[in-house]
Amino acid sequence: MSDSNTYQNRRDFVKKVGKWTLAIPIGYLTGSMLMKSSAQEFVWQIDPHKCTQCGQCETNCVLTVSAVKCMHAYQMCGYCDLCSGYLRQGVKELNTGAELQLCPTSAIKRSFVENPYFAYTIDEELCNACGKCVKGCADFGNGSLFLQIKQDLCVNCNQCSIAQSCPADAIQRVPASTPYLLKDGYKTEQS
Ligand code: SF4
Ligand code: SF4
Ligand code: SF4
Repeated sequence: MSDSNTYQNRRDFVKKVGKWTLAIPIGYLTGSMLMKSSAQEFVWQIDPHKCTQCGQCETNCVLTVSAVKCMHAYQMCGYCDLCSGYLRQGVKELNTGAELQLCPTSAIKRSFVENPYFAYTIDEELCNACGKCVKGCADFGNGSLFLQIKQDLCVNCNQCSIAQSCPADAIQRVPASTPYLLKDGYKTEQS
């Protein structure tokens, strides 16, 4: 396969995956936020560039399962076979064995795109916001994974308990009319 065909195929894949995995939640969330925004002007958001993946987003939310989830900016992703957000450091084999995965809940799905590229998608229901994948991707990959507070899950506490303990001061109020702080690739995918 020529380089131009390979490039085109990956672009097609990014468009296809990005539109469906990102447009559905954002469209849904924007709708629910418009309903909420008449009663409240601000919502809580993580600045993905400040977050240090300390682990407290998993443990300090008032909800039983955190309102924070991992998101993926597909246009930043390298579609790596040896994905440092998916695999533990130092693995000898590249396969999908649970013991090789960084994610403690197997929330990251790996799927073949074309040689040598693989796509990684997050099963939000399984994600507990531990941030291990985000750290792995930031340390050795392109930093395309990031944590964010999902507005359809968050109950918008007056004082976000995660924000109060966040060591990076990464959580802030943003206008409900623009409810998401996203990484660049994530934003671009919406346009
Ligand atoms: S508490 Fe702050 S630094 Fe820790 S994972 Fe959450 S946003 Fe990131
Ligand atoms: S490693 Fe942690 S933050 Fe990443 S998808 Fe799995 S549960 Fe979510
Ligand atoms: S505002 Fe409340 S529900 Fe939302 S992330 Fe913070 S602690 Fe969790």
